[in-house]
Amino acid sequence: MPDHSAILVWFRRDLRLHDHAALYHALRTGPKVYCAFVFDTTILSSLPRQDKRVSFIWESCRQLDAELRQAGSQLLFLHGDPVREIPALARQLNVSHVMCNRDYEPDAIRRDEQVAHALQAAGVRFDSYKDQVIFEQDEVLTQSGTPYSVFTPYKNAWLKRLTPFFLQSYPCRPAPGQLAATGNYQQPSLTELGFEVIDLAAGHIFPGSQGAEKTWLDFTQRLPVYHQTRDFPAIKGPSYLSVHLRFGTISIRQLVAFAVQEGSAGAQTWLSELIWRDFYHQILWHFPHAATTAFKADYQSLVFPNNPHWLAAWKAGQTGYPIVDAAMRQLNQSGYMHNRLRMIAASFLVKDLLIDWRLGEAYFAEKLLDFDLAANNGGWQWSASTGCDAQPYFRIFNPISQSEKFDAAGKFIRRYVPELANLSDKAIHAPWQASPIELAAAGVTLGKDYPAPIVDHGVQRVQALDLFKAAKGG
Ligand SMILES: Cc1cc2nc3c(=O)[nH]c(=O)nc-3n(C[C@H](O)[C@H](O)[C@H](O)COP(=O)(O)OP(=O)(O)OC[C@H]3O[C@@H](n4cnc5c(N)ncnc54)[C@H](O)[C@@H]3O)c2cc1C
Repeated sequence: MPDHSAILVWFRRDLRLHDHAALYHALRTGPKVYCAFVFDTTILSSLPRQDKRVSFIWESCRQLDAELRQAGSQLLFLHGDPVREIPALARQLNVSHVMCNRDYEPDAIRRDEQVAHALQAAGVRFDSYKDQVIFEQDEVLTQSGTPYSVFTPYKNAWLKRLTPFFLQSYPCRPAPGQLAATGNYQQPSLTELGFEVIDLAAGHIFPGSQGAEKTWLDFTQRLPVYHQTRDFPAIKGPSYLSVHLRFGTISIRQLVAFAVQEGSAGAQTWLSELIWRDFYHQILWHFPHAATTAFKADYQSLVFPNNPHWLAAWKAGQTGYPIVDAAMRQLNQSGYMHNRLRMIAASFLVKDLLIDWRLGEAYFAEKLLDFDLAANNGGWQWSASTGCDAQPYFRIFNPISQSEKFDAAGKFIRRYVPELANLSDKAIHAPWQASPIELAAAGVTLGKDYPAPIVDHGVQRVQALDLFKAAKGG
């Protein structure tokens, strides 16, 4: 018989001990609470040895374990398939409940159903809670009870629904001795898990709730001017909190509550971005087909030529379009890409190189530290015009004018494409348009030091329009 005094909290994308819904409920329910984390082989087995995210998770878990140890407890580490590991641990610890925070990705939903089923067979309850979003599932619907698929009315309804209740923090204050330990289940090293140790601090990435707090405090100073700075990749404008939101090392309620209270123009714009995050989460939950195919049926028949050489050049940051190359090199080197650049790079792949957005989506999924299925899929479908509230197919970013507008002095380009550093602020956006004298003076031979453009934007634009018109049937 399960021991009705023991609960197991299963940590997943919520690697913190404060304002944590499942931990709060566990501490209210049972006098003895265990905490566990599974290094999930079904996910890890497909990742490269140098994956930065595994280092981020590993270090965040180390901090969590250290915090728990200060309270006389520990984080119990497992390595395997959670469908097997969690029920086995629940049996071993003889708990009555397993509690966790809800995950809305299709694979995670399937996994949790299997875990719940196995636990049920052993007489153990599986309870999940809303934690990583403000509103989930059916909480924000249209008046006719259907999900929103356009952002602005969703945002208005979201704001209308928001009351202080939804922003309350979940206090997680254990009684002395309530957080339990067993002595085994130590944290495996990254090498034991099959991964290399990546120096994240070298890339200014600070994991765990300590890193989240540091990043957040730094951003609060800049929040009032966020609306003016957020679009310029050479400026430290955005929050850089996406990886912390992804792994739950910071609480979304804390951020939204602060933005609402602060109320400046910057805070309001930033709040909108956090609402986009909820928006895409509910889109994926209501329309799981979007994870694999165009949200809009019209565009499910798009046929992309998918030139493999162009795809390789895009991935490597060698397209000959400096802003696109700088963006891709930022991604490859740091695991982060500025939002404006994500839009430019994605639009370029789909509408200049005529490559299926899913190939770009998959590359971002492999490289982004903050990779999140809902936001990444939403961002790609928006850029590709296939999404729920996407940019119309005929609105095609011009990579040169985007570069001139958002990196006017070429500061960001110079950082990531140093071979062009000596070009003038004017020439750096389209080096092939510079005079041979200027190129020679800057020490640039196109095709040798830096690629000539692999496509002509004007020509590709027309082809993209034809492609989309054909899919729409004329
Ligand atoms: C093609 C493409 C792919 C993207 N892939 C991802 C992804 O895998 N993971 C991810 O978190 N975001 C993704 N985004 C959204 C956005 O680019 C990032 O959230 C943002 O750049 C992260 O940096 P930040 O934390 O400094 O953002 P800030 O500007 O400080 O924004 C604050 C937070 O709001 C959320 N947010 C901001 N913009 C969006 C958006 N458009 N959609 C959903 N949430 C948003 C993020 O959680 C972000 O951390 C993508 C956008 C595009 C166009």
